[in-house]
Amino acid sequence: MKLWKKILLILFAVILLAQIPFIYNRYKFGQLHDKINSLEKTEIANPNFNDYKGIIHVHTAIGGHSTGNFDELIDGAAKNNLDFVVMTEHTAALYDTSALTLQGNINGVLFVNGQEVETATDRFLLVSGSADAGKANKISTADFLQTIHAQNKLAFITYPEKHKTWDADFDGIEVFSLHTNAKRMSPVFVLFDAIWSYYSYPELVLAKYFYRRREFETVRRNHPREKINFVRRNGRAFKYRFSSFGRRRG
Ligand SMILES: [Zn+2]
Repeated sequence: MKLWKKILLILFAVILLAQIPFIYNRYKFGQLHDKINSLEKTEIANPNFNDYKGIIHVHTAIGGHSTGNFDELIDGAAKNNLDFVVMTEHTAALYDTSALTLQGNINGVLFVNGQEVETATDRFLLVSGSADAGKANKISTADFLQTIHAQNKLAFITYPEKHKTWDADFDGIEVFSLHTNAKRMSPVFVLFDAIWSYYSYPELVLAKYFYRRREFETVRRNHPREKINFVRRNGRAFKYRFSSFGRRRG
């Protein structure tokens, strides 16, 4: 046999062998899928609270790492039965991006025109946006929060893994970002799992590659206990609550 044929054959064998773990993963996905389906679904209604489903960090082509347009967003929100979408376009130096993005009730979904804002040291999701937000990178986080609170706005920490000013008077934390987590996926592993399992178990394949742990740990490590409570469930899921969220400010 010629050398190149041998090499090709070995290469082929290696690629075949490398598929074994992903075939096994497919088997595990199937087991998990059956297990989930066998669980009884019970909805627990609490008369004291309403459940609102929405997202708080969304960009369009107006500002940020997105090529999405308004129609795509409205369509996606409706398909996923969202109650609200907080738009967080990046700021611009010369104009107010929050005034240009979606706002108000559209097709049964409440759009809130916020912004993703940089201060001198940190990044926040500002709700609602402001014409001055583009200049916030020249002021400290403390000054920024004081200004926006005087205007009855809220600021949520975004990218907590990079956040610096933990003693600041912020209103909430983005504890999980699909975007950040998607970037951490290993393309090779995702590709092979997708080839074997995505067609049958799309949600489970994606869920496997979304790591939650790191964000929660970052937040917990850096944040004073009195403002945030974590509850450990099933050893890995966390529930969180911000006591200052929704507090009225003068
Ligand atoms: Zn963003």
